[in-house]
Amino acid sequence: MRHTFYLLIVLIFLSSCGETESPQKDKKPLNIVYIMADDLAYQAISAYGSEISKLAPTPNIDRIANEGARMDAVYCTNSICGPSRASILTGKFSHVNGFYKNVDGGDFDGEQLTFPKVFQENGYQTAVIGKWHLGTTPTGFDYSKVLINWGGQGTYFKPQFCVNGTDTIQEYKRHSTKVIEDDCIDWLESRDKDMPFMLLYQFKAPHRDWRPDSIYHDLFTDFDFPLPDSFNDDYEGRLAASENMMEIENHLNRRDMKQEPPHALPTRKDSMKWYAYGDRGQFWTPNDSLQGEELKYWKYQTYIKDYLRCVAGVDRAIGTLLDYLEENGLAENTLVVYTSDQGFYLGEHGWFDKRWMYEESFKMPFVIKCPGIIEPGTTSDQMIMNVDFAPTLIDFAGLDVPGEMQGTSFKGVFTEEEVPNREAVYYHYYEWPIWHKVQPHYGIRTDKYKLMHFYYSMDEWELYDIESDPQEMHNIYNEAPEELILDLKQKLEHIRMDYKDDYSINEMKVMTDTVIKRVYNEPNKVNK
Ligand code: CA
Repeated sequence: MRHTFYLLIVLIFLSSCGETESPQKDKKPLNIVYIMADDLAYQAISAYGSEISKLAPTPNIDRIANEGARMDAVYCTNSICGPSRASILTGKFSHVNGFYKNVDGGDFDGEQLTFPKVFQENGYQTAVIGKWHLGTTPTGFDYSKVLINWGGQGTYFKPQFCVNGTDTIQEYKRHSTKVIEDDCIDWLESRDKDMPFMLLYQFKAPHRDWRPDSIYHDLFTDFDFPLPDSFNDDYEGRLAASENMMEIENHLNRRDMKQEPPHALPTRKDSMKWYAYGDRGQFWTPNDSLQGEELKYWKYQTYIKDYLRCVAGVDRAIGTLLDYLEENGLAENTLVVYTSDQGFYLGEHGWFDKRWMYEESFKMPFVIKCPGIIEPGTTSDQMIMNVDFAPTLIDFAGLDVPGEMQGTSFKGVFTEEEVPNREAVYYHYYEWPIWHKVQPHYGIRTDKYKLMHFYYSMDEWELYDIESDPQEMHNIYNEAPEELILDLKQKLEHIRMDYKDDYSINEMKVMTDTVIKRVYNEPNKVNK
């Protein structure tokens, strides 16, 4: 009895100490919702003001920008799905976190430090729902439900998910975007409401092969989208670009264009081959009367309309989440980010896909709201990289940013505290030659110039004055003043040393050539 009494006194003392010492006494902890689509270009988001987005607006993504900030100079450090995701999670460049290729680059090492782990260790409930695409089971989450079929890409229809690394669930009815949308709301409803939460809400859409929910099939049927200015680029002065295999005219396959075989094919292999026809530049047309410029135009319209129909689904699902936060009194103390794992070509340079350091695939859309800290309607051209996301989210929550993260918090952009002081952002892409024959390259971008080095089976430099040539059509490397080239090369070398990416060309080629097979979480049990 006496012991119980003393214990009670000690507990009262401790709890009153906790109260007086806590600076957050009257403040609810900040929840985090990190929303990421796959391959959703900034050109497709109406907050960024492009011509096509005026015809296909994204009111819910715009809500985040309007209630918070639109960031105009956010760049990925390796423009491809898995590597960008690994950099975002770890706050480290590809060569440091070890996940630098999608194909033959192995699986993500989930043992390493990631920002969800920091939140989890600091009393947050953490969850990831949707696309993961890093092979290994997600770590640092109290709950995970991630796409696993089609090599971890997931599919738009009949997607398979793995729950908490153990149970496989096959979805038969709902489109993948709808499943992810519903699952997030279910998780928010079922969470422990006394704890802060951190949710990663990640869509498969609008990744290739751009299959929208049937409810969007009637969108954009009564008009066509304008062609981008650089649609008929001839790649003059850009050797690497001229060797690409991602042209709308020549490399979209029958599956991309939603074609069906005229008769049943004997085996699955035959069927796969039929649908993939076109990938390697093989000529095909849906009917013989459609040829040349008209065929290219038809492919573009088919592509862009399906892509934007997938975007419409993502935008709706984001609206559902924002409504939920508002209706449940969570909007005021929840930070919401919307981004994409990289940018994408919507016909610029005649392309689909990503990978290049050219602006459309290098630049990431990034909108963020955080009531009380970010003034509504803010825009910023602070140069940011995807390795900055982890430190920024941790900083917003008032937690300590681990010293090993290479990125820097940019919270100061909104609070007038310190911001990353950088003259340039850095890029390095490694994969070759599949899928689209993009030469491995690295480079820097300052606020005015972009210098790139294609080094794998060529030794080509490219330099752009982005201010006067924002579409990067004119490589001025051979005509620019020598001092400018020297200055930019010096900056590039410094940044490579700072980020510990100062490997020799031969060592980098070995990284590209090294094959590490991935071991996906294949389905182990299907619940019908
Ligand atoms: Ca992607």
